[in-house]
Amino acid sequence: MLNMGADPEPKIYRRDKHGIARNSISRSALKVCEILRSHGHAAYIVGGAVRDLLLGVVPKDYDVATDAHPDEVHRLFRRSHLIGRRFKLVHVLFGSETVEVSTFRAGEGGEADEHGRLLRDNVYGTRVQDAARRDFTANALYYDPHDETVLDYHGGYADVRKKTMRIIGDPRLRFREDPVRMLRAVRFAAKLGFSIDPKTRSPIRELADLLENVPAARLFEEMLKLLLSGHSAACLAQLRKEGLHHGLLPLLDVIVEQPLRERFLRLALEQTDTRIQGGKSVSPAFLFAALLWHEVLAAWKVNESKDMRSIPALYLAMDQVLDAQTDKLSIPRRLTTTMKEIWALQPRLEQRSGKRAFVLLTHPRFRAGYDFMLLRAESGEVPMELANWWTRFQDAELEERNAMLVPDTAPKKKARRRRKSKAGAAPEAAPVQDQVDN
Ligand code: ATP
Ligand code: MG
Repeated sequence: MLNMGADPEPKIYRRDKHGIARNSISRSALKVCEILRSHGHAAYIVGGAVRDLLLGVVPKDYDVATDAHPDEVHRLFRRSHLIGRRFKLVHVLFGSETVEVSTFRAGEGGEADEHGRLLRDNVYGTRVQDAARRDFTANALYYDPHDETVLDYHGGYADVRKKTMRIIGDPRLRFREDPVRMLRAVRFAAKLGFSIDPKTRSPIRELADLLENVPAARLFEEMLKLLLSGHSAACLAQLRKEGLHHGLLPLLDVIVEQPLRERFLRLALEQTDTRIQGGKSVSPAFLFAALLWHEVLAAWKVNESKDMRSIPALYLAMDQVLDAQTDKLSIPRRLTTTMKEIWALQPRLEQRSGKRAFVLLTHPRFRAGYDFMLLRAESGEVPMELANWWTRFQDAELEERNAMLVPDTAPKKKARRRRKSKAGAAPEAAPVQDQVDN
C-alpha cells in the first residue's frame, strides 16, 4: 500500500551458484519455514545465518522472516514464546535451540527522536520493505529452503564474496536511525575479517557521539555481543580505530596508556576469545570484572591514601567505579553482584594463613576469584608464587594443606583494633551482597 509502483525484483542465486548445502542448515530453522509454508505463508532464513552459510561459517543462531503475523506464528508452534522487546518476535524452541521468527517490517513510519533515532520499528511490511530496513547488505539475504534459492535486493551476495560490510541506504541516515549499527559494523568486520565499505565507514567518527543517546541497557547488550564474539581483541582494536570507544567503558579510553593495564586486559580478552572459539562458556561477570579491574585498583589506592582502611577502601572503590559506569553502559545487577565478589576476593586470596585459607576454598566464587588472580599473576600484578600456591592448595590433601599454611604476619589486629572505618563499610569477612546497595 505504501509502494504503488512495481516492487523491485531481487537477484536470485540458485543452489549451484551459492553452494549452500541443505544439510549444513539447522533442521529446526528448516522445519519452521516448512510449517509456515504449509500454512500458506512465505518464510525465509535471513540475516546472519545466510551470510555465515555463504562464508562456510557455522551460524550462531537462525533468524526466520515471514509474512505471518507474530500471533499466527505463535499459534502454529506449541513450543514458542511471543517476545515483546523492541518489536514483537516469536521464539520457537527446539531442545536447546531457539529459532527467532520475525514478521516482515517496513522500517519506516515509526517514531524518531530529535536526532533521527527510531524509537519504534514495528510497522509490518512486505519482503521488499523488510530487506530495505535491515542494516547491512550482507545481512539482508533471504534463503528460501523450498527451492534453495538466495534472494538478494541490495547486492549482499557480492559484498559477502568481497568481504565488505556495506550499510543499506544512506549511511548517515541509517546510523542516525540506530547508532548501534556503528558498533555492529565494527563487530561484524572484526569477527568475519571483513572491511567496512569506505562510504559506510566515513561518517562513523563524526556520528560516534550519537551512541550517548542509546539506552544504556541496549549498549550493554551490544557490548556483550562484541566481547563474546570470539574476536573481542580485534573488535576493541577496531572500535578504537573508528573512534567509537569514548564513553563506552572508561577502560577503552585508557587501554593503550598503561602497559600493565594493557597486558592484563589483553590476557583477559585473549583468554575469552580462546574459550569462545573452543566452544566453551564465558562468564560475562568475570569479563567485566577484568575490564574494570584497573579502575577499581586506581580508586582503591586513592581511597587508601585518604587514610581509609584497606578493605573499606576497596568496597568504596568498587561502588565508585560501578556508579561511574552505570550512566554510559549499565551493567545489570546480576552481574555487578558477582563482579564485586570476584574483586573482594582478591585481597583475601593474598592471605594464606590458618582458617582463612580453608574458608576461602568454600566460597561460592572461589573458582572465579582464583582464575582472576591467575590473570593478575600472569600480567605481573601479583607474584606467580601466590597463584601457584593456590593451585597446589586446592588439590592438596588436608595434611599437606596444613603444612602449606603461611603464618599470619600482618599487624592486622593492631591496625584494626580501634580505627573505626570512616566509610562505615562492614568488616572484610561479610558477604559482598550485604554491603552493596546500588
Ligand atoms: P549474529 O547473530 O551472527 O550476531 P546477525 O546478523 O544474525 O548476526 P542479529 O542481531 O541476530 O544479527 O540480527 C538478525 C538480523 O536482523 C540482522 O542480520 C539484520 O538483518 C537485522 N538487524 C539486526 N539488528 C539490526 C539493526 N540494528 N538495524 C537493522 N537491522 C538489524
Ligand atoms: Mg543472528
